[in-house]
Amino acid sequence: MQCSKCRRDAVIYQRYSGLHLCEQHFNRDFEAKAKRAIREHRWIESGDMVAVALSGGKDSSAVLFFLHQLLHERRDVRLMAITVDEGISGYRDPNQARAIADRIGVPWVTASFVEEYGVTLDEIVGRKGTRLSCSYCGVLRRALMNRIAREEGVTKFAYGFNLDDEAQSVLMNVLRGDPDRLTRPVQEVEGFVPRIKPFMYIPEREVALYAFLHVKGIDLAGCPYAVGALRGDVRGILDDYTYRHPATKYSLVNLGETLRNPGKHTGDGLRVCERCGEPCGKTCRVCQVLDEVRKGTSTIPD
Ligand code: SF4
Repeated sequence: MQCSKCRRDAVIYQRYSGLHLCEQHFNRDFEAKAKRAIREHRWIESGDMVAVALSGGKDSSAVLFFLHQLLHERRDVRLMAITVDEGISGYRDPNQARAIADRIGVPWVTASFVEEYGVTLDEIVGRKGTRLSCSYCGVLRRALMNRIAREEGVTKFAYGFNLDDEAQSVLMNVLRGDPDRLTRPVQEVEGFVPRIKPFMYIPEREVALYAFLHVKGIDLAGCPYAVGALRGDVRGILDDYTYRHPATKYSLVNLGETLRNPGKHTGDGLRVCERCGEPCGKTCRVCQVLDEVRKGTSTIPD
């Protein structure tokens, strides 16, 4: 299939935009989206020390490569990578993460559960069972990352979370009936390093493609404790539903952002659309429908 923007061969088809993209146009589109997310959230400022939480998997490797491309010529912002070894046998060899950071040319530090807490995640699971493995792992890893961040002078943590991860998190909080997590505002809390997520509006398959195009030696192993996690079930439900309704993940991410930032939700009443003259909200759905019909795209939730 040919690229929708030039004559080269396409490497991906975006169902939501209706575009086939070659490698060059895919990279341009991908990086523009990630830069826009950083700009809109004002995630990186002069003086920042940004640390990528580098597992060695595709998402974190992709975000490290992207941020290095974006920041390596800036003298006012520094970039580093931090890898935490949870102690899960057969999963995440820190040396693989180190090799990725070395190849990209970014300083790297590591820490482990066993050195910090005197126990591996395997041992915790052995004592407590697998039901809460992700909860224990997440809490301990966050605390350890925070401690390293304080020592290294890190001001922002960059995560490779993608659109799928974000949408799954919102739906998981809905399914758990957890209003606190759904509405917890984005605010700076003393002692906690703020998180930035440049890929949060980019689908997982595009982040994977970007990673495979640019980073060698990515760790593809899955965590053995992820099997029973709620996230796995939610992923299946959401992927299935999104196949028929392509805008669903964007809708969930927008919902999550609106609930966490009530100030940004204007709650504006109806107005008259300047283009079609019909009453509408902030976005005119009539114009949106007509635009999409004309362009053959689909971003409107059913
Ligand atoms: Fe930790 Fe769960 Fe991720 Fe495995 S899947 S690394 S247990 S949070």
